Amino acid sequence: MNVDKSLWPFQQVLSDEESRDLGTQSVYITDIDPKKTTILLKFIQRQWPQQQGLEHCKRIRKNLLPEGRITLSVLLCPTSAMGEEELERLLNEFNVGDNAFDRSPVQAISVPLYAPLNRTQFESCKHLWPIIYREDTRLDPKFNESQINDITTHMQALITKSQNSLSGELPVFARVVDPSNNRIIAEGSDTRAADKHPLHHAVMNCIDNVALSERDRRQSHKRKLNQTDSLSEEDPDVSSRDSTPNLEETVEKVAYLCTGFDIYTTHEPCTMCSMALLHSRIGRVFYHKPSRTGALGTVYKIHSHKSLNHHFKVFGDVLRRDLSQAEATDPYLQLGNDGNEVDA
Ligand SMILES: [Zn+2]
Repeated sequence: MNVDKSLWPFQQVLSDEESRDLGTQSVYITDIDPKKTTILLKFIQRQWPQQQGLEHCKRIRKNLLPEGRITLSVLLCPTSAMGEEELERLLNEFNVGDNAFDRSPVQAISVPLYAPLNRTQFESCKHLWPIIYREDTRLDPKFNESQINDITTHMQALITKSQNSLSGELPVFARVVDPSNNRIIAEGSDTRAADKHPLHHAVMNCIDNVALSERDRRQSHKRKLNQTDSLSEEDPDVSSRDSTPNLEETVEKVAYLCTGFDIYTTHEPCTMCSMALLHSRIGRVFYHKPSRTGALGTVYKIHSHKSLNHHFKVFGDVLRRDLSQAEATDPYLQLGNDGNEVDA
């Protein structure tokens, strides 16, 4: 059974479109007798054949008056389209003037500027005006109890490593897992200090190790297939690394490497690491705490950027509720006080 969202030990990092306030725009409406709807709708059709950015708004609102009578409020157009006087003149020309037609003078009201993309946004705006919203929960992320336990276990393991990490290194740790069988594919930690290399962030090292692990797996598969082959294998030395790796080469190397995999990381990845995750086609990202230069929620939301060709789901604040105390002693956060020198 799926665990209710309110009980997840993390939060989904939604795109700006999914998390924004829907804002408002000003529109003209007029109240009419329900019997006169057709002629007014004909006027609207002729005057404004295009929807004018009001596709998410219903055209008519039903009003139940105290004495039991029903009137309809009809949405005419955005106030930016014309002035109130000009609108009244047009209505009169079409014989839907306020006196002859028994309708109220036009008045300006606020309706949502954007269409709601989820229930939270819908609930926040539905009082303004009737909104067209079809809830589709098929694409919503879902987790059962066992999956929540696996996520908690992986993140707890990384947090423990982070708390016991060597001084001199940033306590940033990452782990790639195949969620189909919960197998750990690779891990990585930040080795910028030891390697004296500015690109050896935990996530980059972890992706490198996924490549090594996949290579080993393929080689062992080959060995099994051809046991008589006595040729020595390529050196699988995990620590070997080009001393001057080029970022473009690294990005090229990671393409499609993590398809269907999850990554857990103690800190929200920086832009470079987030782009590497995107190129690797990572399935989902779980991070424990946000980073000042984080690109998956704090500064950018690379995972949901429209112009990029791969999107993935991101969950932040994993186990954060229970572990807020640990932050006070986290040297990573203290080191980052000067702003841009440190990112994860
Ligand atoms: Zn990074």
